[in-house]
Amino acid sequence: MKKLKCGVLGATGMVGQRFITLLDSHPWFDVTAVAASPRSAGKKYSEAVSGRWFSKKDIPANVKDLIVSDVAEVNAIKGKVDFVFSAIEASKEEIRAFEDKYAENDIPVVSNNSAHRWTKDVPMIIPEINPHHTDMIEIQKKNHGWNKGFVVVKPNCSLQSYLPAIAPLLKFNPIEMIITTMQAISGAGKTFETYPDILDNVIPFIGGEEEKSEKEPLKILGKIENGEFVDCDSIKISAHCNRVPASDGHMAAVSIKFENKPTRGEILEIWKSYKPEPQQLGLPSAPDPFIIYNEEENRPQTKLDRDAGKGMAITVGRLRECHVFDYRFAALSHNTVRGAAGGAILVAELLYKKGYFEK
Ligand code: NAP
Repeated sequence: MKKLKCGVLGATGMVGQRFITLLDSHPWFDVTAVAASPRSAGKKYSEAVSGRWFSKKDIPANVKDLIVSDVAEVNAIKGKVDFVFSAIEASKEEIRAFEDKYAENDIPVVSNNSAHRWTKDVPMIIPEINPHHTDMIEIQKKNHGWNKGFVVVKPNCSLQSYLPAIAPLLKFNPIEMIITTMQAISGAGKTFETYPDILDNVIPFIGGEEEKSEKEPLKILGKIENGEFVDCDSIKISAHCNRVPASDGHMAAVSIKFENKPTRGEILEIWKSYKPEPQQLGLPSAPDPFIIYNEEENRPQTKLDRDAGKGMAITVGRLRECHVFDYRFAALSHNTVRGAAGGAILVAELLYKKGYFEK
């Protein structure tokens, strides 16, 4: 398989750095360009991240001497990459304009940003759940008159712990869910050093997160009709999103009601045997198994289980009857791997395997 050249926009930030470390020695992709704000532009990557390199691993040798370009200057990257990952921190308008500019210049964009999640013709993909939403790419290209470029996004990290566990149960018609998330501080770009107020504390508010957690699943579980996404309208979600003193890992406590209640054994068997498209295709970042059910009564635990499947698997536990709804369970995912850079890399692997970077 020919290796593709990729760029990282926002490469100096927390998520950008995670892209750089996860892409080190990737079997299909080589990082050949890095871009950030004008503050970093013109510097060697190692200088631009000096004093804020978060990883315990060294900066990969093929990246440390790359000269950082300004995200706004598409021409600096054009010709050096086959596609880019986007992890920019800017206003939504600015991010949309940057990402569209790359697509217009024949550079496909796989974005970690929320800016385009509700754009009518932009697919929001969790490869294990809605890989078929890539069908929208040709429609998007036609809408804009783009040739090779397009924009695909991944969803918010808060829902990636519980939606993967619910998606294989759709045949039982889940209708109502109450989700309580317990989200790590890295999701706010923080560490315990930079966020001492979180120690010995829980904060029952994360701006905009409950809306994302309630609405994004409906697009992901929706369908394409007449060239547009139509949201799933049979499921109601009520979310409570909390910031908790964990460094990495988002936990969710879920109560769920079905139209056709399955048995506990049926649910466990479905989770155990679940082998969606990325696992069948053998995508390099696809964990196998995708869903790990832990029988111990006090699992999953954030610290013990977040790195399952190299941070890409979902760990589920405590499936039990609910006196108000049908069942309750807990689910956990790694927010900066599965929920951010790793999830986007898996999307790119899916696109590559399906030939979208060549079309
Ligand atoms: P960050 O650490 O603040 O990094 C932001 C990156 O964007 C840096 O490379 C920065 O370059 C660049 N940037 C800032 N202003 C810019 C501008 N005007 N033009 C071009 N580039 C600019 O942010 P982050 O935590 O990595 O988050 C990046 C994006 O991912 C955000 O949209 C965030 O909401 C989203 N996200 C984050 C997480 C997470 O766990 N942290 C999870 C999911 C999604 P300089 O270094 O030169 O300033």
